[in-house]
Amino acid sequence: MKCPYPDCQKDYNQNWQDFFRGWLWNQDDYPSDNERHLLKRVNLHTRRCHFCSRLFHDIYIGNENPKIFDDATKRFIQAAPDLELIASYPASKTSFKAKKVPENIRKYFHEAERCRSIGAMTGVAACLRKTVYAICDDLGVGGIDYKEKISNLPLKEEVYKELLKQIKFLGDNGTKPGGDIYTSDQIDIALKVLPVVIDKLYEQDEQIDEAQRALAHARSKGLQL
Ligand SMILES: [Zn+2]
Repeated sequence: MKCPYPDCQKDYNQNWQDFFRGWLWNQDDYPSDNERHLLKRVNLHTRRCHFCSRLFHDIYIGNENPKIFDDATKRFIQAAPDLELIASYPASKTSFKAKKVPENIRKYFHEAERCRSIGAMTGVAACLRKTVYAICDDLGVGGIDYKEKISNLPLKEEVYKELLKQIKFLGDNGTKPGGDIYTSDQIDIALKVLPVVIDKLYEQDEQIDEAQRALAHARSKGLQL
């Protein structure tokens, strides 16, 4: 894993000691063995990046020692741990390499990441689709609908266009009742690859700007290229 702060992103070494890992509870009021398995409590996992020294947190809810009542033996038996990730901080993990990525595109994408950090999958699907639409609008690509606009984006690699169409499909289906169920794996792949596509689109834009500036400079010096 990497440090989740967008301006750091250095490799986190899993062997570094946790800053804090445990159940949040007032020490004077710690639950007894008898009730510990009945209570859902907050579990906090805090790590510190050794590069930027900042803390980042995963917040879980679950039972410390889950047990279920077995009707046959009339006894509690041990159950599998049931820690559920509720939120991560910081939630926005991506920093874009290309400086020209517009603010609204960054904002929609970071909102998708925040939705993901609390498991709001419909929200992720909607925000990712909105990000793709905003890219098409910003770059002013033509087309009768967004499917055609995506096809007309200046990307050489068909695989990236396919991914953007897939994200549109997830957004279309995820936001209507009874829409196709998508897996969190699909969503996570989209979250990982979309910033690569965004950087690619805007970096090449920056390179064209740079080439045009160089050309204008050369002409102003009376040079023929
Ligand atoms: Zn860091």
